[in-house]
Amino acid sequence: MALWNWKLRNRLVLVSHKPTAVTISFTQRELVTYDLAGRLLGMYQDGTHLRRGLDNSIQKRWRTETGLGTDLQQQLLTPWQARELVEKYRPQVALLLEDQASRESCPETAAVFRRIAGYSYEHLQDSASEFHQIYGHVPILPPDQYRALVLQATDGCTYNRCTFCTLYRDKPFMVHDPDEFRRHIDRVVSFLGAGLSYRNSVFLGDANALAISQERLIELLEIVRTASDVRPALDSGGLHAFLDIYTGVRKNAAQYSALKELGLRRVSLGVESGCEALLEFVQKPGTREDIIKVVSTLKAAQLAVVVILMVGLGGQRFSQEHLEDTVSLVRSLPLAKGDIIYLSRFEPTPQAPYLSIAAAQGVRPLSPPAMHDEIRRWKTLLDREVGRQGIKISPYSFQRFVY
Ligand code: SF4
Repeated sequence: MALWNWKLRNRLVLVSHKPTAVTISFTQRELVTYDLAGRLLGMYQDGTHLRRGLDNSIQKRWRTETGLGTDLQQQLLTPWQARELVEKYRPQVALLLEDQASRESCPETAAVFRRIAGYSYEHLQDSASEFHQIYGHVPILPPDQYRALVLQATDGCTYNRCTFCTLYRDKPFMVHDPDEFRRHIDRVVSFLGAGLSYRNSVFLGDANALAISQERLIELLEIVRTASDVRPALDSGGLHAFLDIYTGVRKNAAQYSALKELGLRRVSLGVESGCEALLEFVQKPGTREDIIKVVSTLKAAQLAVVVILMVGLGGQRFSQEHLEDTVSLVRSLPLAKGDIIYLSRFEPTPQAPYLSIAAAQGVRPLSPPAMHDEIRRWKTLLDREVGRQGIKISPYSFQRFVY
């Protein structure tokens, strides 16, 4: 990392130039970060964090006191607000280039500044259109993978019928053939350009790419490994993917070991609950036995595992059973240090079939204070069960995702 002072007219600003990004501290309470291609990544302004996605949406996050403790709030900026923000800083970066002495002693940083100065809001909108052409959309990643380089080996979800989930409803499931996948990687690499250095792992999209047949999967992972531009991200953080339980049971430990040899490091499982009656209610396939089998097989292959649980999924009706059965399920999983349990707060989307089914069956949602207590109860009980083994238990919000 290099730290420099650059002159902005008559004052100094601190610039940190890392191999992954450039951060400019205009004041101690105002920091802006760009990737090395010059695209805005995010900023910090007086207690508020803002994060820009490749689709050019900007999400604002801040903490508020709710009377139940502090709560993280988030809000998407309107295009008008996003434009104002981008255009607030861009001219200031252009002005930094007037500092001839710094420009000459930091030519690489100056080159990034020139790229930043060229990224007007309209230019970022064009970049977002290109992103959509390449990816369609990237609806969700596990929180530990927000900086991953997403490579889409598949589109959509193999199942697509859980009543609470609309993430991939508009995308029929499709496996990409090796030539298509190679072309996809080439397009991603050229799109990100110097910004590729910000990506610190590889995530194989979409919802359950590991469901692909073993032979095809090996072919696709070989392509990832031999793509020289992708290699730094792969070597840095390894390969990650989602896996659903009902297709996860179809591979054995030797097959998962072979994938590990090709770079697979951690697998994220949408378990949601250990309560079979609730899984049936939301039409999520797979039993407790299947969940234990998949986790045991992945651990036998020495892979790290993420278990995603959805707090509040069964509303008031399932609340106690959901918690008790899930804690007993977690107790029987061979989790170890390095594994993660994510507690995702259930927030039904209006388009999902869940709401009408729940209303028809009298399943009432948890109120915000009840949900707050529920999350605390889950975290306390799970911490007691597995926290001491070095298993991290963290919150996970679908709503907070920006890629
Ligand atoms: S929850 Fe997972 S398995 Fe179910 S429809 Fe959504 S992506 Fe597919």
